[in-house]
Amino acid sequence: MLHIHQFPCLSDNYGFLIHDGASGATAAIDTPDAEEILRQAGAKGWTITDVWNTHWHPDHAGGNAAIKAATGATITGPAEVERIGQAPDRIIGQGDVVKLGAFEARVLDVGGHTLGHVAYVFDSEHVAFVGDTLFALGCGRLFEGTPQQMWASLSKLAALPRQTTLYCAHEYTLANARFAASVDGDNPELAVRIKEVERKRAAGEPTVPMTLAEEKAANPFLRAPLLLPELADWEAFAEIRRRKDSFK
Ligand code: ZN
Ligand code: FE
Repeated sequence: MLHIHQFPCLSDNYGFLIHDGASGATAAIDTPDAEEILRQAGAKGWTITDVWNTHWHPDHAGGNAAIKAATGATITGPAEVERIGQAPDRIIGQGDVVKLGAFEARVLDVGGHTLGHVAYVFDSEHVAFVGDTLFALGCGRLFEGTPQQMWASLSKLAALPRQTTLYCAHEYTLANARFAASVDGDNPELAVRIKEVERKRAAGEPTVPMTLAEEKAANPFLRAPLLLPELADWEAFAEIRRRKDSFK
């Protein structure tokens, strides 16, 4: 099996280490906090062999150089990661396959939050690492891409099998839930989900990962075409994203 170790770091990021017991290969998905990632790997008895970046933002690629210096890890990521000061050893994009021991992840181009943002999908495990593209009950802000591009990216994720486990990079869920309730207040599945999110956060538990099925039932960005049926799908998404950007 593919071992996945998730831990909080920085103010609201999650770090992820994935490990193949057979080969010993271990990848850090993004590098929000090099020191904490190295500490967590050490506690597991794992040696980091790889870094897989989702996008160039400092809370995702800022620890690349320190982890490479400490471990000699191979850095895999989209070309835009060069902006953080160190080019990936392997530049990947849509359709590429990345291996961790015997496990294979497919690369999806999910641009929008940044232009080159990618997701890593382990089809055999029904697991996807989605960075800052899709959050629990939310989605990433459009810093670089267009609403059409982000809608196409979210649609790629939405087309994965419903049981897919989604690992996103931030614990933003309570704030996302407040906004979701403001635009989709009649959705009983959202109401149930919000209760669950509130319980988990009150208990100090993460709300990440989540399943695609849960998100399809309650995420207002995936549900935008249902919430605003008079608009084209991407326009409905754009409108919900605009409302979130000005939500207080
Ligand atoms: Zn980001
Ligand atoms: Fe981020």
